[in-house]
Amino acid sequence: MALVVQKYGGSSLANSERIRLVAQRIAKTKDSGNQLVVVVSAMGDTTDELIKLASQVAKQPGEREMDVLLSTGELISSTLLAMSLESLGYKAISLSGAQAGIKTDSTHNKARIISVSVKRILEEIEKNNIVIVAGFQGINQQLDTTTLGRGGSDTTAVALSASLKADMCQIFTDVEGVYAADPRIVPGAAKLDEIGYDEMLEMANSGAKVMHPRAVELGEMYNIPILVASSFSNVSGTIIREEIAMEVRNKVRGIAHDANVARITVLGVPNRPGIASAILAPLAEANVSVDTIVQNISVGNTTDFTFTVDRSALAKAKSIVDPLVETLGARECATDSTLAKVSIVGTGMQNSPGYAAMMFRTLSEQGINIQLISTSEIRITCIIAERDVNIAVRALYESFEAEIAKAARP
Ligand code: ASP
Ligand code: MG
Repeated sequence: MALVVQKYGGSSLANSERIRLVAQRIAKTKDSGNQLVVVVSAMGDTTDELIKLASQVAKQPGEREMDVLLSTGELISSTLLAMSLESLGYKAISLSGAQAGIKTDSTHNKARIISVSVKRILEEIEKNNIVIVAGFQGINQQLDTTTLGRGGSDTTAVALSASLKADMCQIFTDVEGVYAADPRIVPGAAKLDEIGYDEMLEMANSGAKVMHPRAVELGEMYNIPILVASSFSNVSGTIIREEIAMEVRNKVRGIAHDANVARITVLGVPNRPGIASAILAPLAEANVSVDTIVQNISVGNTTDFTFTVDRSALAKAKSIVDPLVETLGARECATDSTLAKVSIVGTGMQNSPGYAAMMFRTLSEQGINIQLISTSEIRITCIIAERDVNIAVRALYESFEAEIAKAARP
């Protein structure tokens, strides 16, 4: 008998009809003789709606109350799903994150899981219950509710899979798997049969929305193969797992993009040790994630220091950097909030400069100006104007299609 952890996302549970359909799918897995733990997200846009409600009653809602509020979304879906299963004649029980033993640190709104005590879940499985766990939430040492950050139910599912030593972790969503490029932009984009953890992590951090990066990281750490598939069809999905067949290395696995990039440049910074840390440390303290960072070679004795942030974080980042201009003796702080990033990802690109050259040529053939370039061993990213991003993704897909096709169908 296999122990399967399944996770259903918000769109799969958007209304009562869909909840009933999900219950039927779960019932089928149960019928084939599996033990089942199911993690749920909140119904549809519930989380966004709760955030909006909070903003209508308070300018800056407290983080503790916010976590309790947001956790209710997943409680609703978990209870409804359990009821729906019971009405189909299956034994089911819903558990909150706390009841499921998910212990976190106290970083409200972005808590990290410290440990999972699976005793209660195992007891319920023993009683032949299908266990429905409210995703995205846990409890801290003070017994206060915490949430794991937006999209955190994926992390709940992988953490439970690790702690329960599950045979399988299946993430059900509204797309049929991981695509080599966003199919809304590249209609014929290949669906990947498999992708390595590192590649998935780079894709997710580069804008591919299908999996939460922290969940992928956790999967890699505990070596849990993760299936991403649609809850609306029976098409086989994408498996995220450790290094895949050697033959398919040295290929571009996919193209990711993120159309929500903003740039901050501090111009004319005196070139002396400690400048980068003086600018970045306060941002880190304020929990602003900084992405691409570039410091120019200095001309005379000043330099320009540039970094990108998610567009939603621009105002906060600027309010932190603005006062530094004077303290550091820089000239000014300039921003651009109309940028995007496009990346090619593939483990095999290591030590192969040809891929970068081909990427730059493709963009230049489209007349697209590259503003910043950053790379990892398995990723090349260009920051470009947002208005060019769709053209860039399509052109890059076309350029690398042969490579992608090899990787997609080994
Ligand atoms: N409901 C939460 C969100 O929308 C968590 C999740 O969906 O994974 O971010
Ligand atoms: Mg959601």
